[in-house]
Amino acid sequence: MSGTGTAGILEPLAPCVHCGFCLPACPTYLATGDENDSPRGRIVLMRSLATGVIAPTDSSLGDHLDRCLGCRGCEPACPSGVAYGAGLAAARQALVEVKGLPWTARMILRIFATPLLWRPLLTMARWFRSTGIPRALAGEGRFSFSMGMLAATAPSHFPASPLPRPGSARASGGASVALFTGCVMDTLFPHVHDAARRTLATNGYRVVEVQAQGCCGALHEHAGDHDGASDLARRNIAAFEGTVDFIAVDSAGCGALLKEYGHLLGTTPASEFAARVVDVTELLAAKGPRPAGPLGDDVAYDAPCHLQHAQGVHAAPLAVLGAIEGIRLRELPGADRCCGSAGIYSLLEPALSRDVLEMKLASIRDADPIPSVVATGNPGCLMQVGAGLLAEDLPVRAAHPVELLDAAYQMDGTYGPDDSHSARFQK
Ligand code: SF4
Ligand code: SF4
Repeated sequence: MSGTGTAGILEPLAPCVHCGFCLPACPTYLATGDENDSPRGRIVLMRSLATGVIAPTDSSLGDHLDRCLGCRGCEPACPSGVAYGAGLAAARQALVEVKGLPWTARMILRIFATPLLWRPLLTMARWFRSTGIPRALAGEGRFSFSMGMLAATAPSHFPASPLPRPGSARASGGASVALFTGCVMDTLFPHVHDAARRTLATNGYRVVEVQAQGCCGALHEHAGDHDGASDLARRNIAAFEGTVDFIAVDSAGCGALLKEYGHLLGTTPASEFAARVVDVTELLAAKGPRPAGPLGDDVAYDAPCHLQHAQGVHAAPLAVLGAIEGIRLRELPGADRCCGSAGIYSLLEPALSRDVLEMKLASIRDADPIPSVVATGNPGCLMQVGAGLLAEDLPVRAAHPVELLDAAYQMDGTYGPDDSHSARFQK
């Protein structure tokens, strides 16, 4: 292993004193009870990898690191300040350099690196969703659960009348904002993007469009494909260069990596790009946001790991939901714990992913009263939790926080007949 790789693993993990305070925060340890599936156990394994005690080809090492969600739930639980996520990223990169990636991961990452592949594939998936077949087939088995994941990408609220369609110029003044559109969000969750544009414009931002964006690269980086993530980062940095004041993100997983582009590439343009990235709820919370509603939902907020742990954003989504008159807002036990989605983890480690999800579903199922909505700001979480709710036939739906705020603005008549809430920014 290269000296850089060794230091990249050892330095962030150096403060670990093996106290074990992180163990109860780790979903995989709670699911398996195996010390090697805990942060402390994995830190021992990663140090052994870096110092040559264990070979990169050791299958048990690879298995236990593959089973890590990368959720970073262990970081806030650690009193010593171990940067677990940085150590894990370096260890995974070191393993990929020696062993390569499994073919399933290579295929998935290739698709998301190529807009000519992911856009038609995901657009066809959205069309298939509209037939209602995925929802009808949703259930417990592996195929049925995947159908549930697709069904869960549908809008959570259906407006009584057509909502204003963002797309032409009206807004003027105020800070300029462009949405980071991404891949899965742009094709399976365009209704969330539209809700984000409308709510931002309603709160005084000048919303514009930036073309030539692509996938953020988070799936690649988490899998250890550092080069693939870097290529996508450079493409996005070029697309946004000289455009807007803020790059708003409504996908926590994307936002976490976009904010890390400076570290990923180590260049000044990358750092300048990263400094402009904000979660959409951060921008809305900075303006209040403007009160809305009423809605009658009983909402349980579930924090995406990559928003709460990776970005340290917790108050902003609660402020967005708190601006909606009439909703009953709470956080259920384990709301800050991973749901088991974790990028492509649910595809590569389906059994453990479902075990982790089951803990989340039990918390929802056991709530008294049971919520009507689980609000969470990440596509993977919306799909994973949504599919679990469908599989258990629970009377609960998953929704993005801005979807709820958007629905509330519609209910109270905030949106007028003028349909223009964004301007197109063509480089
Ligand atoms: S990572 Fe932190 S909490 Fe976990 S064992 Fe090490 S020092 Fe303790
Ligand atoms: S990142 Fe998540 S799954 Fe991995 S060790 Fe930390 S808490 Fe456990």
